[in-house]
Amino acid sequence: MVQILKRNTKTLHIRPNGRSADFITPNFIYGCASGCRNSYCYVMRHNYKYIYVNENIDQILTLINNHIETLPTKITNQTDDKYWTYDIGCSTDVCLHWKHTDWLKVFNFFKGNPYAKATFATKYVNHKLLDFNPKSKVRIRFSLIPQNISSILEPRTSSIIDRIRAINTFIEAGYEVHLNFSPIVAYERWLEEYEALFQSLNTHIKESYKPLIKAECIFLTHNSHQHERNILSNRHESESLIWKPDLQEDKVSEYGGSAVRYRSGVKKNFIQRWVALHDKIITWNTIRYIF
Ligand code: SF4
Repeated sequence: MVQILKRNTKTLHIRPNGRSADFITPNFIYGCASGCRNSYCYVMRHNYKYIYVNENIDQILTLINNHIETLPTKITNQTDDKYWTYDIGCSTDVCLHWKHTDWLKVFNFFKGNPYAKATFATKYVNHKLLDFNPKSKVRIRFSLIPQNISSILEPRTSSIIDRIRAINTFIEAGYEVHLNFSPIVAYERWLEEYEALFQSLNTHIKESYKPLIKAECIFLTHNSHQHERNILSNRHESESLIWKPDLQEDKVSEYGGSAVRYRSGVKKNFIQRWVALHDKIITWNTIRYIF
């Protein structure tokens, strides 16, 4: 059972990113109890046992505020046209751990800031967030993979159809909504199942909202220690999907940890096929980046 610990974080650094957001904030919460903690979650490579709830929110927000004040006028890039973007949920799931900290204080900070916007990815539809209207200054990225493998890799998270249906609801409530195709896992019949996923997006998202939506697309990475821990706890079915030594190679992750990813030639082929399918079905969607 993962343990929740309250503390004041001393890791008060804002990291440049350039993918999900321009910057990553210090952790408001570091750790996560979501079902994917026992399959591919990269946070679990460093912190499996605890969920640290960092209580010095005001100190973190002051740091972010001071950081924003050092920035020049935002130049349009793939993270956003107008605002500097800060990922507030890189090491947890904000929607799942909604009750564990004062996220509304964080949301209100960004809502009130004229230069910056918050963003986070989630696998949960939490209707409590709908009581707040962030006036498009909070971007939720609903994470999407085919339901068949979500049931195996992400047990106890919101169903994929619920996440898709939530896109309209959250836009109507005042959130900006993007798609987070992550992790993209290649397995037998993967493209058939992605075709069904894209068709479902086409069907359920309101036509008027489609031009507002963009996506980030991130192929699976994994880690040998994580793989061993998952096997020791008998997670053979999920590991058979994500541990593929014949297709994977070692890499050093962006922040220095060791990981495996699909081998570069293999991945290039996977990306081409996945993007061709994507472009055929959800023509309205802009891919912000894919790797
Ligand atoms: S929801 Fe995100 S942070 Fe939480 S276990 Fe899953 S991948 Fe990790």
